[in-house]
Amino acid sequence: MKYDYLIIGAGLFGATFAYRAHRKGKKCLVIDKRLHTGGNLYCSNVENINVHKYGAHIFHTSDKEVWDFVNSLVEFNRYTNSPVADFNGRLFNLPFNMNTFYQMWEAKTPAEAAARIESQRLEALQRMRDDNVQEPRNLEEQALVLVGKDIYETLIKEYTEKQWGRECKDLPAFIIKRLPIRLVFDNNYFNDTYQGIPIGGYNKLIDRLLEGAEVKTGTDYFENRELWDSVADKKVFTGKIDEYFNYRFGHLEYRTVYFEEELHQCSNFQGNAVVNYISRKVPYTRIIEHKHFEYFGDRVNDIPVTVISKEYSTEWKPGMEPYYPVNDRKNNTLYQQYKELADAQEDTIFGGRLAEYKYYDMHNIIGQVLKMDI
Ligand code: FAD
Ligand code: UDP
Repeated sequence: MKYDYLIIGAGLFGATFAYRAHRKGKKCLVIDKRLHTGGNLYCSNVENINVHKYGAHIFHTSDKEVWDFVNSLVEFNRYTNSPVADFNGRLFNLPFNMNTFYQMWEAKTPAEAAARIESQRLEALQRMRDDNVQEPRNLEEQALVLVGKDIYETLIKEYTEKQWGRECKDLPAFIIKRLPIRLVFDNNYFNDTYQGIPIGGYNKLIDRLLEGAEVKTGTDYFENRELWDSVADKKVFTGKIDEYFNYRFGHLEYRTVYFEEELHQCSNFQGNAVVNYISRKVPYTRIIEHKHFEYFGDRVNDIPVTVISKEYSTEWKPGMEPYYPVNDRKNNTLYQQYKELADAQEDTIFGGRLAEYKYYDMHNIIGQVLKMDI
């Protein structure tokens, strides 16, 4: 065999695996069907602005080993994610914090805000007790017991249904647990200890990770499976697990997003990297203004133009990029059937968002690969 590992997918999982394997003296071939490496982290450069082509990516973690690892490869900036939500022209800070509660109810102290939330949470908990339910059964119940009716109806319901194309009652509770709630004036979206964006964009990180591996882009594993299966002792597969097994139990569902990119002849379009559009009347879910990931304060004026992306959410169909696994009961059960087949394949490692059908963030992927015995 020519290679120790054939790695299918040059996304974060494949690239991190290639890095570790190379350090262990292993020879790797990485193939990707896209024309570039990096998977969903890929950035294009427009007028010196790194444009996150597959959606805004902010690196955050509380795992020091993961943070030290990525910082050993590239330098990170101090970007702090603090999205703003637009609900029918009214602006609210995210995540849910004292600024949001002031904007919502004019609550000025933590005690006032807590009292508002608590009375609405108790109503939701009482309704669950009346129905003899111990744990929230879906996203709607979870949101109501976390933040109550006002926040749910203003800032969660329409955005979530637009993003997922399903009613909140039909979505798993865990999705909303990602959103922090705090009684301090702090718009930092993440609770993690470390946060930032690679200076110069994510391609730098991916290039470092892939140093030492042979890489072929524009190469789809499924177009010549027999050939690719014959080049290495072991495989690492990071594509869709249902596709790997020829959809024999049926198709897993995904949500996908697409972007309308616009170049504007002004230095500052919306004053923030991320503005979420909550109302279902607005067809897109958010507008990303990419320069704010790397040019802070007055530095936004260093470049006289700006690039924005309007993000639209839609159901995945063949030919589109699959972005989000839909981890509801039906799809998780189907995934378990595929996983049993995957577990029986001793020469193949299945890893990443698509092969494990999990809503992984970047730090989860790196943490996982750092622990693998390669
Ligand atoms: P991918 O990036 O999907 O890589 C898989 C690769 O495999 C792709 O390049 C694909 O082309 C290739 N491939 C698939 N099939 C084949 C085949 N048959 N042959 C050859 N190649 C194939 N995480 C964060 O930590 N912070 C964020 O702010 C954040 N924002 C996000 C926003 C969006 C819109 C999305 C969708 C995700 C976000 N994430 C974020 C998650 C992050 O993108 C993932 O954790 C990470 O990209 C997963 O890496 P991966 O290698 O598993 O998957
Ligand atoms: N969410 C919401 N309102 C918002 C932002 C997020 O209700 O303004 C919910 C929504 O259900 C979404 C979840 O929080 O699916 C996680 O959102 P986040 O933006 O963190 O996830 P991403 O889409 O970036 O993966």
